[in-house]
Amino acid sequence: MPAAWWRRLRAYLTPPPLDEAPWQQALAACPLAQRLDSCRQQELRRLVGVFLARKRFHALADAELSDALCTLIAMQACIPVLQQGPKALRGWRDVLVYPGEFKVKRSHHDDRTGVVTEGDDVLIGEAWERGPLVLSLADVQLDLAQPWDGYNVVAHEIAHKLDMLDGPPDGVPVLPPHIPRRQWIVAFQRAFDRLSSDVARGRDTLIDPYAAEGPDEFFAVVSELHWSQPGVLRRADGAVADLLQAYYGVSPAPG
Ligand SMILES: [Zn+2]
Repeated sequence: MPAAWWRRLRAYLTPPPLDEAPWQQALAACPLAQRLDSCRQQELRRLVGVFLARKRFHALADAELSDALCTLIAMQACIPVLQQGPKALRGWRDVLVYPGEFKVKRSHHDDRTGVVTEGDDVLIGEAWERGPLVLSLADVQLDLAQPWDGYNVVAHEIAHKLDMLDGPPDGVPVLPPHIPRRQWIVAFQRAFDRLSSDVARGRDTLIDPYAAEGPDEFFAVVSELHWSQPGVLRRADGAVADLLQAYYGVSPAPG
């Protein structure tokens, strides 16, 4: 077996943990990672090594993407998979990074009327099934500067990625054996229905009304709260907070 081929295969299968200097640099810029216990930090360092070895970053529209920023994106993307491990990152390779918000063309076909509407959506992140993860760098940096404001675009898009590991997104990711699927579906459906009803009536909600767009967006939005404002999530819905804690592990975020 050619030595170079073997080295490449070994590096792919068991990438080394991130080197000390870039690890310390990224840790200093990521308050969420700083608050993990040392055991989870070591696991995160290993996962970031895997992420950087297997994913490809692409700067779009002149985004200024340094190695340090790629490491910071990888760090934030790996925090939600600390409990599931590297297998939860399978099935896709590319991370596309825009400097800020980006526009995408959308068309919608109404089955009832047959009308197709077209338009531009302005996004800060997007996750494709078996395709790329797309991020606005300005919003990634805003989340690092304001980690406890309830929003985290990387956590949101990684939640979609986890949800899509078993097919089109439906708000139910592949669950570990200690979480009964039935319990998840009942609790999330109840919480989603309550939020949708509150939004329809124009009531104030603790969970961002965007979560009422569909069960997939609900899962992604409450995942952001788990990592950014777990106390708010618990006040909004204790059952969903418990299930996310069982799925992701205890959030290190304050309050
Ligand atoms: Zn979303």
